[in-house]
Amino acid sequence: MGTYSALDQFQHKVIGKVASLVMASVNQRDRFEQFPMTVARVVALNDHLRRITFHAPEFARWRTSGADEYFGLLMPRGGELAFPVAERINVRAAIAKLPAATRPDLRWYTVRALRTEVAEIDVDFVLHADAHGPGSTWAAAAEPGAVAGFRACGSTYREQPAGHARLLVGDETALPALSAILEAQPGARAIVEVPDESYLTPVPDGVEFVYRGSDEPGSRALEAVAALPPEDFDYAWACGESSLATSVRRHLVKERGLDRRKIMFSGYWKRGQART
Ligand SMILES: Cc1cc2nc3c(=O)[nH]c(=O)nc-3n(C[C@H](O)[C@H](O)[C@H](O)COP(=O)(O)OP(=O)(O)OC[C@H]3O[C@@H](n4cnc5c(N)ncnc54)[C@H](O)[C@@H]3O)c2cc1C
Repeated sequence: MGTYSALDQFQHKVIGKVASLVMASVNQRDRFEQFPMTVARVVALNDHLRRITFHAPEFARWRTSGADEYFGLLMPRGGELAFPVAERINVRAAIAKLPAATRPDLRWYTVRALRTEVAEIDVDFVLHADAHGPGSTWAAAAEPGAVAGFRACGSTYREQPAGHARLLVGDETALPALSAILEAQPGARAIVEVPDESYLTPVPDGVEFVYRGSDEPGSRALEAVAALPPEDFDYAWACGESSLATSVRRHLVKERGLDRRKIMFSGYWKRGQART
């Protein structure tokens, strides 16, 4: 594993092993490339979603590790884009060592599409109006020519054997990942909870939308999962607001008896808290 310290490599392996005891295995990278990228285009997909296309020469050679590849968006502070030392796998620990004045903000986003032939990626950013974290603030203001940092991370969805019954559950922030998974391996049952119809965008066939309105995030998704016929799933993926991910997983394990090692779940954001 390239230039990473023995301690970082050991920690990385242990974290992966421990996680695989309690959830479905994920795809681990062995190189975490980082480089600057430039905004090439910005398109509003609806009132709440901006598709930002980034260009970097490195994308011509870069490869995803799986359908729901995600990365760390490094946002410049004080007009300067500083990068964490490349030798650390733990990007948070590496960033903490940078001087506060130029320490970049970091948030996680999904690579919705990679086009190596033109060295571009598309990223769909949810602009959550009632909260002003650095990620959505940066995305709301980004214009062509703006520069941010890219830090490769990994992916969580592993292609499942043909015939396996799969359940995908998400919200508006997980819709880019869920759509990419369905494009790579169609045929899963998919439930997506969004606040209301104004969040809808074209999605692959088979996605069922449910609307939470002003209810707790995850409540309508859980209801929809609980109402599914008592079919057996061989694999489930539940990502989105933290309560959505944990409550769907709990239901699948406790009420449907699904082995926890067949469920991938992740809190993409947490109500009232920054996703550091
Ligand atoms: C693996 C992974 C992939 C992800 N992919 C995407 C993606 O492709 N597109 C995308 O938009 N997001 C994605 N996210 C979610 C995104 O990282 C979080 O929403 C993150 O909190 C945004 O950072 P922020 O700086 O805007 O807000 P933060 O600083 O993290 O939080 C500030 C406040 O905003 C609130 N908040 C955060 N997100 C939302 C939201 N969606 N709705 C309402 N309030 C919110 C928080 O509760 C908090 O109160 C992904 C997360 C992970 C872990």
